[in-house]
Amino acid sequence: MSGGYAKETICIQSGWKPKNGEPRVLPIYQSTTYKYESSEQMGRLFDLEESGFFYSRLQNPTNEFVAQKICELEGGVAAMLTSSGQAASYYAVFNICEAGSHVVLSSTVYGGTFNLLTVTMKKMGIECTVVDPDASEEELNKAFKENTRCVLAETIANPALVVLDIEKFARLAHSHQVPLIIDNTFATPINCTPFQWGADIVIHSTTKYMDGHAMCLGGAIVDSGNFDWSKYPDKYPGLCQPDESYHGITYTEKFGKLAYITKATSQLMRDLGSAQSPQNAFLLNIGLETLHLRIPRHCENAQKVAEYLEKHEKIAWVNYPGLKGNKYYELAQKYMPKGTCGVIAFGPKGGRSAASGMMDYLKLAAIVTHVADARTCVLHPASHTHRQMSDAQLVEAGVAPDLIRFSVGIENVDDIIADLEQALRKI
Ligand SMILES: *Cc1c(COP(=O)(O)O)cnc(C)c1O
Repeated sequence: MSGGYAKETICIQSGWKPKNGEPRVLPIYQSTTYKYESSEQMGRLFDLEESGFFYSRLQNPTNEFVAQKICELEGGVAAMLTSSGQAASYYAVFNICEAGSHVVLSSTVYGGTFNLLTVTMKKMGIECTVVDPDASEEELNKAFKENTRCVLAETIANPALVVLDIEKFARLAHSHQVPLIIDNTFATPINCTPFQWGADIVIHSTTKYMDGHAMCLGGAIVDSGNFDWSKYPDKYPGLCQPDESYHGITYTEKFGKLAYITKATSQLMRDLGSAQSPQNAFLLNIGLETLHLRIPRHCENAQKVAEYLEKHEKIAWVNYPGLKGNKYYELAQKYMPKGTCGVIAFGPKGGRSAASGMMDYLKLAAIVTHVADARTCVLHPASHTHRQMSDAQLVEAGVAPDLIRFSVGIENVDDIIADLEQALRKI
């Protein structure tokens, strides 16, 4: 699909490819619905006998072109957009799970994902076992059950910055005949393509680096096409057995490698409706056009900020996988040799109160819930994003009470460091 183009070219050129006389720029198809000449043709669309657009809750051309671009960046076979990263995580799991299913979940995943799986989906009858991503394969093996249907983890965990040994997790998942789902939000396909290391499904909160400007919520799901659902019809009845809500079609038989995304679109999106607005998809596409320029700059700035903090007398600890001596340095070099992400975690001396005190003195770095956009921003997870967690859960998630999540932007790095310097001087 990508015609062998490099990621930089895919960022700019993929997705919308205008034909003769068509608009140069991706149009916003601001329409809920699509007109057809015959009633019979419309019927065939509803039966999934013919591909085409009929209602924007299921598919919209603007969204499809943007999904295609993300698909090519990840090296997948099919992709879809969702209204948020949360919706992407939910659909990615729920597409292959039902009441009675079991999920193996990395303990360091984003707080929202943790809550989704351990609280909300639990109410739907989907159980999960939370595992330490650094545990040995022998240990991790014990988490799998007969009803396990997938494994979910993040390339670089937000905000613990734990780098996942993707090959280890892929090997484990496959030895139990289940797919590995990777949330690749922080690394982005510019720094890491998990399919290359054996992951089967990739999900994104496009709200972060992909959008890059803190403008729009969004999510994406990409399928590598590598997991052969049809080998396990008893495990994945939703994909391998007739769907009564579509006159008994069987997704794996009818759509082959496109089965997973087709089902997620035509069934979950139809029934649950977390569709992205085409306006947002248009803005996301603009973000994607510069992703390959922004990400290296985020990483370069973050590296300098991490090195500055590491040497500072008022700093107790710094966690950034790009620092030599970091626990995840080697894994980061293997999976993300060009850089990891722009997010740093650190703790000032003086613990929790010094952490929140220092944040108030920052002028350039803004206190926001958001992370991973062009502007430098800062957050105290223990009192903000992760405040629903108990102290024990915080520790398990790799979030210390004094942890400051510092999302390094693409401003001039000297200005970012000067801002930190003046704030640190005051504590
Ligand atoms: C933010 C985030 C999410 C959730 O995405 P939303 O777009 O906020 O719904 C999921 N995973 C990771 C790693 C995130 O950083």
